[in-house]
Amino acid sequence: MSTRIAWPGGKEFAFSIFDDTDLTVPGNFEAVYDLLGSLGMRTTKSVWPATGTDLVPRGAQGSTCDDPEYLSTVLQLQRSGFEIGYHNSYFAGLPRQRIDQALEHFRSLFGSYPSSMANHAESSEGIYWGHERVSGVAQLFYRARLRRFGANPHQGHIRNSRYFWGDLCRQRIRYVRNFVFGEIDTLAACPVMPYYDPDRPFVQAWYAASNGQILSSCLDLLAEHNQDRLEESGGACIVYTHLGSGFQQGNTVDKRFAELIRRIAGKRGWFVPVTTVLDHIRSQQGLTMLTAAQRRRLEWRWFAHKFVAGRT
Ligand SMILES: [Zn+2]
Repeated sequence: MSTRIAWPGGKEFAFSIFDDTDLTVPGNFEAVYDLLGSLGMRTTKSVWPATGTDLVPRGAQGSTCDDPEYLSTVLQLQRSGFEIGYHNSYFAGLPRQRIDQALEHFRSLFGSYPSSMANHAESSEGIYWGHERVSGVAQLFYRARLRRFGANPHQGHIRNSRYFWGDLCRQRIRYVRNFVFGEIDTLAACPVMPYYDPDRPFVQAWYAASNGQILSSCLDLLAEHNQDRLEESGGACIVYTHLGSGFQQGNTVDKRFAELIRRIAGKRGWFVPVTTVLDHIRSQQGLTMLTAAQRRRLEWRWFAHKFVAGRT
């Protein structure tokens, strides 16, 4: 699996961002997207598409697609080529019927079901999340670490739960994120992606990401020497971040972030949405059927990043 991927148009590497919508409200993310767009980047912005008068369209957690001002910006982003991804239906878990409705609402707003998603950190809808991200001994360790010995609060994959939506996920969503690594070359950290995990059958294919959770970790990840490494390796970077969490102050994009993103945009990279990157890798190396040995290697590598290196 060490073969280099040939990127379209003679590009030297691939670069994308999965933007977790937490905290994003009108006024705190538009300038960031103006910058990405003006540099020719097209990345992935996630949303909460749940709808209903009992939900909060704009609050401390962020905006949902029921916030008209937010929605109009998101639709504009989609029209200009950004991918709209899924971040569970809402910031608080909703039961199956509402999830189904949210996915239909997503389709009516954006033209099709979402193709890429990431679980929200704390949600009953979480699919193979919490300690079920990992298996065997790693799961025992992670459970101890989480200090959660009862039922998994993340129940999207548990058939008899009211939050079960695994079958809908399998039918409708192509790529779900699991592990996040500190390495800028996501593909080097997870060379098997996208992969199918036979122990987690409600997910068509999994992908990994590189850790840029908040502004400071994103600035570390995108530091000049890392950018140059990505360029040299010819790999693929999928940054996982929260662009609504302080990347923009007033109408101004954080200076250092702007500087770094301009620098990488100046390289011969392929700056496309998460689904486009994953589809391309898949067209070259197929969909990996994860073996037990590959699973173990991924899980422990993630553990080393998350706990030994003390990262999120
Ligand atoms: Zn989230």
